[in-house]
Amino acid sequence: MISGLTPREARSRLNLMGRLLYDARSIDLWKRDTATLPRVFRSMRRRYRAFAQREIAPLALQADLDPPSVDIKGLFLKSAREGFQTELTPWPIGNARYRALFHSLIMAPALKAEEFCAACGGLGLALLAHDLGMAPLFASGDLRALFKWMRRIYREIRDGEPAIAAYAITEPNAGSDVEETQGASRARISCRARKAPGGWRISGTKVFISDGAVAKWITLFAALEKEGMESWTCFLLDKGMEGLSVGRSERKMGQRAADASELILEDVFVPHERVIGPLRGGWAINRNVLNFSRPVVGAIALGIARGAWERALDFCHQTRMGNRPLISYQDVQLELADMLAKIQAMRALVWQAVSYRVPFQTASSITKVFCSDTAWEVCNQAMAILGDHGFLHCHGVEKAARDARLTQIYEGTNQINRLAIVEGQLGAEFKIGDFYAP
Ligand SMILES: Cc1cc2nc3c(=O)[nH]c(=O)nc-3n(C[C@H](O)[C@H](O)[C@H](O)COP(=O)(O)OP(=O)(O)OC[C@H]3O[C@@H](n4cnc5c(N)ncnc54)[C@H](O)[C@@H]3O)c2cc1C
Repeated sequence: MISGLTPREARSRLNLMGRLLYDARSIDLWKRDTATLPRVFRSMRRRYRAFAQREIAPLALQADLDPPSVDIKGLFLKSAREGFQTELTPWPIGNARYRALFHSLIMAPALKAEEFCAACGGLGLALLAHDLGMAPLFASGDLRALFKWMRRIYREIRDGEPAIAAYAITEPNAGSDVEETQGASRARISCRARKAPGGWRISGTKVFISDGAVAKWITLFAALEKEGMESWTCFLLDKGMEGLSVGRSERKMGQRAADASELILEDVFVPHERVIGPLRGGWAINRNVLNFSRPVVGAIALGIARGAWERALDFCHQTRMGNRPLISYQDVQLELADMLAKIQAMRALVWQAVSYRVPFQTASSITKVFCSDTAWEVCNQAMAILGDHGFLHCHGVEKAARDARLTQIYEGTNQINRLAIVEGQLGAEFKIGDFYAP
C-alpha cells in the first residue's frame, strides 16, 4: 500500500479544523452506536451486553441441544435481579427509568433484545416473552391493571419468585386470523368466555404460547359467548386456576430454549377483576401490543444476525487457508462487509422505529419484516463463510440461522405484516378504494 493514502494518514495532513471534521478512528460500531444514544440508554446497553455475555452465552449451545436441561426460571431470576424483568413501567410499579421513557417507550426492550439474542435467540426469547405477556396490562391503559396486577406481579418478581408472564392469542384454527383485520372478520375462534356469577368461565385451547410451560401468569384473549372477534376480551389468568393446564410443548426448529406450549382451558373461572381493559376491548389491546412488540422482534432478529456475524468473523480470524488467515482473502472481506452493512441497516431501522412517541402499525411491521428477512440472509451468509463448519452445531452459526427463521413467522408471518403495512397506510400512500376487499 502506498504510504500516506490510508484515512488516518490522509487526515494527519489537514489543519486542526480539518482534522476535527474528519473522524478516521478505528472504533467498533457497537461503541460508536452506543455513543449516539441518550446517556440513560448508553449505560443500559452496556449492562444488557455484560449480562448476556456472562449469563446467556455460556448456556446457548446446551440450551439448543437439550432445552429442559437449562434452568429458565433460574436465569429469569438472575435477569430480574438486574432489574431487567420489571422495567416496562417506572416507580411505583416497575423500575423503568423516567428519563428512558421520556425518550422512547420501547428503546429499552429493543436494546435488551439485541444483546440477549446476539448471545442466544432461544434464551433471549424465553426472557423477552415475559415483557410481551405483561404488555397488555400496560397497553390497555387500564389503571387497575397497572396498579393492582402489574404492581403485584412485579413485586412477586422482586421478592424472588419466577413469576413469568406469557401472551396467549393463537388458537389451533386461528393464527394469522388473530393478527389481521380481514382474517379476524371470519376467524374460527375456539376460546370462549361465558358469563358466570362473579366473573367468566373460559373454555378452549391456545397453542404455540412462548413460555407457556414456565409462566405463572397468562394474558389470554377470548371471545364472548355467541359473539365474534369484535367481542374479544383480555383476561389475566394464573396457573393456580382450576381447569387450566399445559398440554403439548412443541419440538421446534429454532429458538429451542424457549418452550412453545399448548394451554388447555376447561371451564376456568376468571373473576371480573381479572378482565384487563374494557369488555370487548381485547382486539384493540392485541393490535396495539403487536405495534409495541414488532420492533422488538426486529431487534431479536438483529441480535441473532449480529451473533452469527460475530461468530463468522471470529472463525475468519482463527482459521487459516493456504497458509493465510481466512480474513485476509478479499472475497471473504467483501462478504463480511456486506453482512455488516445489513446489520447496520437493521439497527438503524429498529432505532428509528422505537423513536416514534407511540409505536404504530406501519413502522412496526416494516421493521419486523425487514429485520427478520435480512437476519435470515445474514445467517446464511455466515454459514457460507464457514463452509463445512457452518453446518456444525459447535460454531453456533447454523443455530443462529434456525433461530432467525422463526422471526419471520411469529408475531404474524411476514406476509401478514406486509398486509399490516398496507392497512396502516390506507388512505395515505395506499389509496386503493373499493379494490381493497377481502
Ligand atoms: C415458536 C413459536 C412461538 C410462538 N409464540 C407465540 C406466543 O407467545 N403467543 C401467541 O399467541 N402465539 C405465538 N405463536 C404463534 C404465531 O404468532 C403464529 O404461528 C403466526 O401468527 C402464524 O399463524 P399460523 O401458524 O396459524 O399460520 P396460518 O395463519 O395458518 O398461516 C399459514 C400461511 O398462510 C398465510 N396467510 C394466512 N392468512 C393470509 C392472508 N390473509 N393473506 C396472505 N397470506 C396469508 C400465512 O402467511 C402463512 O404463510 C408462536 C409461533 C411459533 C412458531
